Amino acid sequence: MRKEKLYINGQWQEAASGETFDVLNPADGSLVGKMASAGREEVLQAITAAEQALEEWASLPAQVRANYMKKWHQLLLEKAEKIARTLTMEQGKPLAEALGEVKAAAAFVEWYAEEGKRVYGETIPASSSRKRILVLKQPVGITAAITPWNFPASMVTRKISPAIAAGCPVILKPAEQTPFCAVEIIQLAHEAGIPKGVISLLTGPPEVIGDTLLEDPRIRKVTFTGSTAVGKKLMKKSADTVKQVSLELGGHAPYLVFEDADLDKAVKELIGSKIRNCGQICIATNRLYVQESVEKELVQKLKTAFSGIKMGSGFEEDIQMGPLIDEKAYQKVQEHVEDALSKGATIVTGGEGFHRGEHEKAGYYYKPTILVDVTADMNIMKEETFGPVVPIQRFQSEEEALRLANDSHYGLASYVFTESLSRGLRVSEKLEYGIVGLNDGGPATVQAPFGGIKESGLGREGGHFGIESFLEIKYLSIGIE
Ligand code: ADP
Repeated sequence: MRKEKLYINGQWQEAASGETFDVLNPADGSLVGKMASAGREEVLQAITAAEQALEEWASLPAQVRANYMKKWHQLLLEKAEKIARTLTMEQGKPLAEALGEVKAAAAFVEWYAEEGKRVYGETIPASSSRKRILVLKQPVGITAAITPWNFPASMVTRKISPAIAAGCPVILKPAEQTPFCAVEIIQLAHEAGIPKGVISLLTGPPEVIGDTLLEDPRIRKVTFTGSTAVGKKLMKKSADTVKQVSLELGGHAPYLVFEDADLDKAVKELIGSKIRNCGQICIATNRLYVQESVEKELVQKLKTAFSGIKMGSGFEEDIQMGPLIDEKAYQKVQEHVEDALSKGATIVTGGEGFHRGEHEKAGYYYKPTILVDVTADMNIMKEETFGPVVPIQRFQSEEEALRLANDSHYGLASYVFTESLSRGLRVSEKLEYGIVGLNDGGPATVQAPFGGIKESGLGREGGHFGIESFLEIKYLSIGIE
């Protein structure tokens, strides 16, 4: 059976307590392996290792940091299939999706290897001929990165790559459900020769690890992807030492389909937005609004598409959707559907799930589900579902669609389907979201800024934007003769 350790100061080590925790396969609840469980002691060790690595790493030429990262990128591509298998084993998504994710994870490493070379300062004309103004960009410092289970490979590199490219050592705490692909990714960073202390990996009780990192003044930045509730906690706890904070939190994406939309395109893109990763994506569509005149046709087309989706373990051939991550996730999906039904919604397809295996905590599947006769008071229209359910509410006018879409404390992703360029731009500009997919259900990509407004987060990851939050601005005022 697989048993993995913590990575601190360039070495793999057991937890001093000898404690471990179980990692389950979401497909059937079988045991994938055991992972070492860190306590305060190991967290402090990792911080000290990062502190020792900081100065040398930060003062290397960007080109040299890039060379390490390019080697890491190459190793990630060479081992992509192996990591993808681990990913599917511990996370459940179909193998083809897992492979796509690992390649995306590698792409972040490559992108930031390059971007690190373009950390430009500025010179600014002074008001006096005896002064010069210089603006430098320098690494923020030691960074704590806390990542979720839904993209256990790409979230790891989306955070580590810009940080280390900017010169910041990183302490990574991946989600307890999915530590093993993080272990494989970090092992390749080790093989690429990235010096000790620049990257550490800790797993274990989130609160113990999180609190120890957050209380320590040596940690200067926290970058987090996960739930809004945990993000708020981390932000509060960061206040005592005024750490920089980047947060990618929950979402509740509206999907607007206007009467002038290409309905086949809208259906095809919705499959990507809702079925991929079993709907467990923060930018996944959570509620669909369709203009009244095309509702029947859209629902019919969606029903046909959803009914044809095959579910199963991520390793089975020809499946498009895997299991939910665990029992808690299944219960939430079920509760959202039951609440909607109790308030008058109707099931078009799906509306039920099943369980495989012996373990009560994992092995849960939920059928792709469409709900109609949906109203705004249903929980599913307000809270993140993280499952393959599409509730559909009709609207009459563009104003009404915008009002419904913007009526959320979330502001991550939104989608608009229309063949009218004017409407597309008009509506996109008015949507209160960090990301708009205009006739596009899959906007996330390495070179674009990913992030939300309102309670969906702070800051942007990806592209040239993503490195900024790992850099401090230093102003040098120079007096000359
Ligand atoms: P989810 O509910 O989708 O699992 P979470 O926000 O709970 O999302 O988890 C995202 C990441 O945050 C995981 O790595 C998890 O271990 C971590 N986490 C959860 N609670 C805390 C906490 N109190 N302090 C630090 N990290 C936490």
